[in-house]
Amino acid sequence: MDGGDPFPKTAQPPVMAAEGSTVARAARWLADGELLGMPTETVYGLACHAFDAAAAARVFEAKRRPSFDPLIVHVASTDNAWRMIGEQAAPTTARALADAFWPGPLTQVLPKPAELPRIVTSGLETVGVRVPAHPLAQRLIEALDDLLRERAITKDTAPSRARVGGVAAPSANVFGGVSPTRAEHVAVPCRAVLDGGPCATGVESTVVQPHDDGTVTVLRLGGTTLEQLAEVVGEGNVRVAKPGEKVTSPGMTERHYAPRTPLTLVHRLERLDPASLGNQRVGVLTLTGERGRGMGFAAAEVLSKRGDLVEAAANLFAALHRLDAAGLDRVVAEAVPEEGLGRAINDRLRRASAP
Ligand code: AMP
Ligand code: MG
Repeated sequence: MDGGDPFPKTAQPPVMAAEGSTVARAARWLADGELLGMPTETVYGLACHAFDAAAAARVFEAKRRPSFDPLIVHVASTDNAWRMIGEQAAPTTARALADAFWPGPLTQVLPKPAELPRIVTSGLETVGVRVPAHPLAQRLIEALDDLLRERAITKDTAPSRARVGGVAAPSANVFGGVSPTRAEHVAVPCRAVLDGGPCATGVESTVVQPHDDGTVTVLRLGGTTLEQLAEVVGEGNVRVAKPGEKVTSPGMTERHYAPRTPLTLVHRLERLDPASLGNQRVGVLTLTGERGRGMGFAAAEVLSKRGDLVEAAANLFAALHRLDAAGLDRVVAEAVPEEGLGRAINDRLRRASAP
């Protein structure tokens, strides 16, 4: 339903005390694609395995975000952050900041590893990475890391970086609601909430983008102060981005990914007049692929053959990237049903189609 109650009642997920085998069990749930309430020192997060696109889509669904907003990926240690993104990929400034502030409330925007699903970063080529200071969060992510390695040894299918225990986790509240700072506050659908007591910091992490020239751009103020940052990188090297400012740096696209190829959003593909497209090379994006067949499109992307909006959301950005790389003059996208994650998908398509 659109424009409904911004604070819907959701069943309270079970709160689990962190004792005995609870953490190991919780890590198994994450590895199997389930969502979990996870304590951090900032706020409680709604956690999923960061390399599982469908689980990340379910995070957006559970939060009922009207659109996709990049998720922060949490790792258990600084070493694991470099294992995940590749140490050479991180600017020297990032390493200095990591030494000074990790574990802690600082998120660094770094180059995205290819294996990380695009839905996690909302289509960006960068990923926000953080090492949380909460001991229970660290234990949980470490347990996931161990489990993924074990599974990789027995099955050996996943590419190496996808074996790093990374947890994508936005705040565990429904969109528009207040961030939870206690386990009992978590009221979004998930398997369980790990009880880590009240959050010590209580505000979100500071988000920075470190640059090769030694400067940092602060994208969001939070638990790490500007003074603290200046102490590490130097007084004149900290710049706070203006609200709404597009983050530009070499190799970085807009803050929210939009394809370069012009995109037309239509409600019903069969109402499209082929003559209106002239001689252009046109690609098509639809939910199930049933419509648009035989209409002479040069490329086609299907978001979910069975029409599942969670699967569609998980595939959306990767599909847009493929269409963008196909050398097309135009992409025609058909709106998906305006319900559940369909609203976020349509929102993205509407923005992508804006002139
Ligand atoms: P949160 O809602 O606390 O989980 O934080 C998510 C926020 O982190 C986003 O709304 C962005 O402001 C920021 N963020 C995460 N990833 C990126 C990224 N790759 N580039 C820029 N900002 C990011
Ligand atoms: Mg939030």
